[in-house]
Amino acid sequence: AFSGHNGSSKGLQIDGIRDIIAVASGKGGVGKSTTAVNLAVALANKCQLRVGLLDADVYGPSVPTLMNLHGKPEVSRDMKMIPVENYGVKCMSMGFLVEKEAALVWRGPMVMSALEKMTRGVEWGDLDVLVVDMPPGTGDAQISISQRLQLSGALIVTTPQDVALMDARRGVVMFSKVKVPILGVLENMSCFKCPHCGEPSYIFGCGGAQKIADEMGLDFLGEIPLEVAVRSSSDEGHPIVVSAPDSAVSKAYCCVAQKI
Ligand code: ADP
Repeated sequence: AFSGHNGSSKGLQIDGIRDIIAVASGKGGVGKSTTAVNLAVALANKCQLRVGLLDADVYGPSVPTLMNLHGKPEVSRDMKMIPVENYGVKCMSMGFLVEKEAALVWRGPMVMSALEKMTRGVEWGDLDVLVVDMPPGTGDAQISISQRLQLSGALIVTTPQDVALMDARRGVVMFSKVKVPILGVLENMSCFKCPHCGEPSYIFGCGGAQKIADEMGLDFLGEIPLEVAVRSSSDEGHPIVVSAPDSAVSKAYCCVAQKI
């Protein structure tokens, strides 16, 4: 669905990149980065697209860990950074460039100039889609990123908890203000299935994301269950879409990748 949003009306924003889509959340800790990574890998491997992943979560970059990428990007002859690649996805993250704590004290303008370098200062090559792991929240930084990158669309990740849903609504409003189309709402940590008896537990509530999608006239993209394997494979740097491609969770991610 995101295909073509960028092309004619807004022009190509970064040379060679057809569409830029944001994975966003109203608050931290809901699984935005996990979603961005698994979707990027699914778009590359299941949908056979040329995919890049930009970790714009400068205050808490997690792409290096989640994609098992360490070290610094090389610089090309025309002084552009060459993205680091794994699982068929070209990645760029502040985590490659500065020590862990360094960016934490940065102010807005420094963050924006770093992001500028991580987008236009990178030799992405031709990409069908650049997935952007946004910083959590709906403040100035998110608005500037949305405008500067001229996003083709944004996907909102939320858990079914009331507080998360409230913040997700705020995210939807923010993107509409800057005229970025919402690709849909994805519910993460939806349900926990007991590994012993199979009984589902709705730890963070049930059906909340579907409800806000309906209320706001948005597509509901699906549910990703709360599962130990999602967390453990992320921690090891092997997104579940590659470590357990036949699992129900991986199929759910691939289904979302196909929908957007
Ligand atoms: P955010 O980017 O929103 O801050 P993360 O993607 O970093 O969130 O996820 C927060 C934590 O929750 C991580 O430890 C991650 O592995 C874990 N997590 C995310 N989604 C799931 C899930 N569906 N099941 C289990 N753990 C998850």
